[in-house]
Amino acid sequence: MAVKTGKDYIERLKKNKPKCYILGKLEENPFEHPFFKPAIAATAMAHDAAHLPEYEELLTAKSHLTGEKIHRFTNIYQNSNEIIQKIKLNRALSHICPPCNVKCIGNDSMNAIYPTVYEIDQGAGTDYFKRFCKVVERVQKEDLVCSAGITDVKGDRSLRPSQQPDPDLYLRVVKRTSDGIDVRGAKAHQTGAMVSDLTFIAPTTTLTKEDKDYAVMFVVPPYAPGITHIYGRCLGDERRLEEGGTMDLGIQDYGVHRTTLMVFDDVFIPKEHVFMDGEWEYSRPLVTYFSTIHKLSSACCKAGIFDVIIGAAATIAEYKGLEKSYHINDKIATMMYLAESIYAEAIGAAVDSFKTPAGTPMPSIMLSNVCKLTLTKHPYEMCRMMTDIAGGLFRTQPSEKDWQNPEERPMIEKYLQMKKGVPVENIMRINRLIEYFMFGTASIEDLGHLSSGAIETSQLWIKAVGNIPYKKKLAQKLAGIKEEQVTEPKKLKVAKG
Ligand SMILES: Cc1cc2nc3c(=O)[nH]c(=O)nc-3n(C[C@H](O)[C@H](O)[C@H](O)COP(=O)(O)OP(=O)(O)OC[C@H]3O[C@@H](n4cnc5c(N)ncnc54)[C@H](O)[C@@H]3O)c2cc1C
Repeated sequence: MAVKTGKDYIERLKKNKPKCYILGKLEENPFEHPFFKPAIAATAMAHDAAHLPEYEELLTAKSHLTGEKIHRFTNIYQNSNEIIQKIKLNRALSHICPPCNVKCIGNDSMNAIYPTVYEIDQGAGTDYFKRFCKVVERVQKEDLVCSAGITDVKGDRSLRPSQQPDPDLYLRVVKRTSDGIDVRGAKAHQTGAMVSDLTFIAPTTTLTKEDKDYAVMFVVPPYAPGITHIYGRCLGDERRLEEGGTMDLGIQDYGVHRTTLMVFDDVFIPKEHVFMDGEWEYSRPLVTYFSTIHKLSSACCKAGIFDVIIGAAATIAEYKGLEKSYHINDKIATMMYLAESIYAEAIGAAVDSFKTPAGTPMPSIMLSNVCKLTLTKHPYEMCRMMTDIAGGLFRTQPSEKDWQNPEERPMIEKYLQMKKGVPVENIMRINRLIEYFMFGTASIEDLGHLSSGAIETSQLWIKAVGNIPYKKKLAQKLAGIKEEQVTEPKKLKVAKG
């Protein structure tokens, strides 16, 4: 069956031997490390949920290649409704497994590469589309977990890839043979690459003729010879290394957004896994498609996390005996508005999608970037409301070890009590969850703001597609300025080059 279970995934994963340094040490068994175990559990959950009746419809789709039932995170969208389903799925999965299930970003990259390789073939006479479809078919059939290596390390941001004093600061082709290519460079902030079966690699920015060697797109197992991962440590990590108890983790089973710096030291990529090699003009559609799709995924999983934070706010308010307070309920309503507005903009972007030349739907570029900008603002307001409702205890409460110590426990029980009948342990647990979302390994401020790109890229897109000249003319006409003519808005084309 094409929809695998978490057990299938873990058994498959454990056969891989990626090279990974964690806290300055080359790890023999990184998958057994407490930093990676929660990420594996989260990814396994994204498989198991597909077998639960309440999630099955959201989590499965029909392959347009084989007609088989597949995991939705391996699907190539065929209509805008499938984008809507993916948005709903992202939100729903965050309810059970914040912050990341890994499979989602790989799906975003597949849906960006698919129309791009189609366009390359049309313009350059290559045969990438056939190669790529073969890989997609395998991903669907085996229900593989794919990560996406888009972000280069970028060195001096004012210089183009080919202008960097060190040529390896953007991933590039260093050797070509009839069998394939060798690549060198690094991809930064790689979510889940360590725990995936495959990583799709693509350019992070639009390229020029001089950047030809940087115009490279391929798929690679993250454990291929020549690849090294360096684990990116996060605040709160060390709590996972402590013996005994899990309360201080906030979220015990999952709750980890694991990234690595993924270094490629002359890694061989066989020809059948290469989907771009030198066609620099097509970096533009690739970047456009990926950022447009990924912004929605990123937004909606945060909307799901917001839902959990709202639940935490309502819980702690109730524990404090404040559930009827006007200003608390007002703040909780504001928090709901923040979550729903992100979701609404994402749904709007999907509904207003357009067709790529390959025939696949692509969300509205304008609305996807509007949604992303909202996402960069709302987490801060969310934290403001949450902190106000929670008060100081989530930053100052004793540890679980203190709670477990019989000498301290009576004092903690007496002095941390809130509304009559609420167990102090529950108060401590909800506070840890709140702390986790505010400052933990996956604080919503970082995730909301950074994942899927910087603010400026969205501003640029909004300016580019917003047709300001047309809007100026509308105003001039209404103001009675007669000499200027109002023209219709231009249809947006994702031009190459
Ligand atoms: C938790 C997390 C998970 C992530 N997961 C992934 C992943 O799985 N795969 C992946 O590929 N990426 C991933 N990312 C990367 C993410 O998309 C980037 O962090 C984001 O695109 C910003 O890039 P950067 O970090 O290099 O910051 P920078 O590019 O350095 O941006 C910082 C600032 O510099 C500005 N800037 C940069 N270049 C220029 C310029 N030329 N001119 C003017 N201003 C400029 C930006 O606008 C911004 O204001 C992840 C990031 C995080 C935080």
